[in-house]
Amino acid sequence: MLTENEKDILKYVRELAKNTIKPKAREIDEKMYIPEDIIKAMNDMELFASYIPEKYGGYGLSFPFLMRVIEEISYACPSTALVLDGALTLFAEPIMMFGNEEQKQKYLSQVAKGLIGGLAITEPNAGSDAASINTKAEKSGNGYKINGTKIFISNGRLSKFFIMDASTDKSKGYKGITTFVVDADTPGLEVSKDIHKMGIRGSSTVELSFNDMYVPEENIIGKYNEGFKVIMETLDAGRVGVAAQALGIARSAFDEALEYINTRKQFGRKIIDFEGVQFILAEMESRIKASELLIAEAADKWNKKEDSIEISSIAKMFASDTAVYVAERSLQLFGGYGYTIDFNAERHMRDAKITQIYEGTNEIQKIIIAKEIMKNHHL
Ligand SMILES: Cc1cc2nc3c(=O)[nH]c(=O)nc-3n(C[C@H](O)[C@H](O)[C@H](O)COP(=O)(O)OP(=O)(O)OC[C@H]3O[C@@H](n4cnc5c(N)ncnc54)[C@H](O)[C@@H]3O)c2cc1C
Repeated sequence: MLTENEKDILKYVRELAKNTIKPKAREIDEKMYIPEDIIKAMNDMELFASYIPEKYGGYGLSFPFLMRVIEEISYACPSTALVLDGALTLFAEPIMMFGNEEQKQKYLSQVAKGLIGGLAITEPNAGSDAASINTKAEKSGNGYKINGTKIFISNGRLSKFFIMDASTDKSKGYKGITTFVVDADTPGLEVSKDIHKMGIRGSSTVELSFNDMYVPEENIIGKYNEGFKVIMETLDAGRVGVAAQALGIARSAFDEALEYINTRKQFGRKIIDFEGVQFILAEMESRIKASELLIAEAADKWNKKEDSIEISSIAKMFASDTAVYVAERSLQLFGGYGYTIDFNAERHMRDAKITQIYEGTNEIQKIIIAKEIMKNHHL
């Protein structure tokens, strides 16, 4: 449940999304770049500060509120939503959960001012199997020397800092992983490649290379060799963010198709008047509503610090499948016009697909859900 204050702010977020972000969404997709004034507009509305606790310069608004913000911005442009989502759920959240007081003062206060962060875990040979990373952190003086490569890192070019993990004791598998916070301008850290994509093309996705990057001991987030837990718990929040992003895409695809078929006529009737089409609408609407409910429950549980592993994965899987389904059906309802770049239908379809893949593919979500079922039934 949102507070009255949060509901009021959400009205302004909707206006920002509609009047400032949506008109630029096509250009963002084509130029593969988010104009600085768009990010500034989100920051001027204090959206980066919204979720940061008051103690660190933010407003301490709730996680369900943040999820609604992500959804509304994604309704206009999911690439832009990912800038905020990445900075808050993927970078700030692990510091809020596991950081010490000094780290919180240093980094959260900067995010509250609109500085962007990212999360770097995926590697060329360690995607779904996130525990099999090869990036190594070796003891050196009062810190660590890090070598390795991370791939597909969102907010790559925009980030001032990253949360990243590295193997500190390969023989111990996931129990030998440590998580660090690093500034993007640390010597030895390089954005080594820009990755061009089918959708969310405005989002900067990069390869990061670490060559003898020195990181002091105090940059460890959480405990030495307990970094895997930091990453896994971060993703429990992050997955709700992906679900909210997916829901925004689905709602946008639905609304635009609805408007179109209510105007377009064939066989002397509006397209919407054909029963076969109404069945599609009913199916879309049902899946969108179910996604809303799942996201609300997952966000509420996360906010209350209750166990949300299963519901986060269910929400992420269901909402992303919904986004792909709705975007595809929406395009179909536009007929040939949907296949052109004169309408957003094709962009919605391209943007929707990533939500089934990142922060754990939907196959991985099923593995998580099944594990939770077995755990909860003591099997
Ligand atoms: C645009 C984009 C942005 C991203 N942003 C980030 C980011 O900011 N930070 C970050 O760290 N990562 C990021 N990622 C990485 C993303 O999380 C991974 O791509 C994803 O987890 C899958 O890993 P993979 O690509 O290596 O696929 P793989 O793990 O190689 O999987 C290939 C296929 O095999 C399936 N599969 C794998 N294991 C199993 C199994 N046990 N059972 C059944 N099926 C299985 C998968 O579901 C998938 O269909 C991003 C990726 C993209 C494309």
